[in-house]
Amino acid sequence: MTLVLVGTPIGNLEDLPPRAVRTLAEADVVLCEDTRRTGRLLQAAGVSAKKLIAVHDHNEAGQIGMVLDRLRNGELVAVVSDAGMPGLSDPGERLVRAAADEGFEVQVVPGPSAAVTGLVASGLPTGRFVFEGFLPRSGSGRTERLAALADERRTMVLYEAPHRIVRTLTDLASALGGDRRVALARELTKLHEETWRGTLAEALVRAGDIEPRGEYVVVVDGADAPPVAGDDELAAAVARLVSEGCSTRDAVAEVANVYGVPKRRVYELATGRPA
Ligand code: SAM
Repeated sequence: MTLVLVGTPIGNLEDLPPRAVRTLAEADVVLCEDTRRTGRLLQAAGVSAKKLIAVHDHNEAGQIGMVLDRLRNGELVAVVSDAGMPGLSDPGERLVRAAADEGFEVQVVPGPSAAVTGLVASGLPTGRFVFEGFLPRSGSGRTERLAALADERRTMVLYEAPHRIVRTLTDLASALGGDRRVALARELTKLHEETWRGTLAEALVRAGDIEPRGEYVVVVDGADAPPVAGDDELAAAVARLVSEGCSTRDAVAEVANVYGVPKRRVYELATGRPA
């Protein structure tokens, strides 16, 4: 009948609201990543024995048929993940899509999410932000993502595992520059919760002190707005690049990118001809 995504604590068991407990108690079945872990959570919340079914990244697609059958039979199907909001860097997204496509009601019982918790703890601008989750682990996927983030103006929120945090800070510093402000939010809502704030370069100086345990949310400041340039400045910038050996076409593209203005305008200013 209804698919309900239920947020669960990201560390502190007190962060399980009454509505989440009631929904888990009423559900006919609870889909979870790890049945033992969720079993312990339910026990701590006083929810008596439930039918728990493992749905994780590796079998989510294969479990869709079973979930749709249960919804057709009128069941209330709850989805939780190991921690935080299901569907966000955790299983759930595909189930929601499949249930919604079949016309079933989808509800959410919201709970904590490390992304939003880390963002608001960071002290960086929250007005516009982009969730990046885990960066691709290696290869061109990682390089291209980092290059794309260099010009991102919104605050960026990333997840990272503790043993990869220094590698990721190193790569962020080389792609975005060491001056970029960053916040490392660790063990949120837990006993050893801490949020360190500084620049990427400063973070790397203290890389040796970075605690290789615990989970991290990395929040990175967006790129500065491109400088506001007048017509003379744009034309001079193109002329300078051309005098250094750049083709007019490449110089126009570079200047348009740096100043954040249309290529057509730069071309017309630099050449005196319509683009
Ligand atoms: N769906 C979850 C959510 O909404 O927060 C995120 C799941 S993702 C698989 C796990 C990642 O979230 C961790 O590697 C870490 O980056 C971040 N995370 C989870 N709990 C955290 C905590 N208590 N403190 C800091 N980061 C946490």
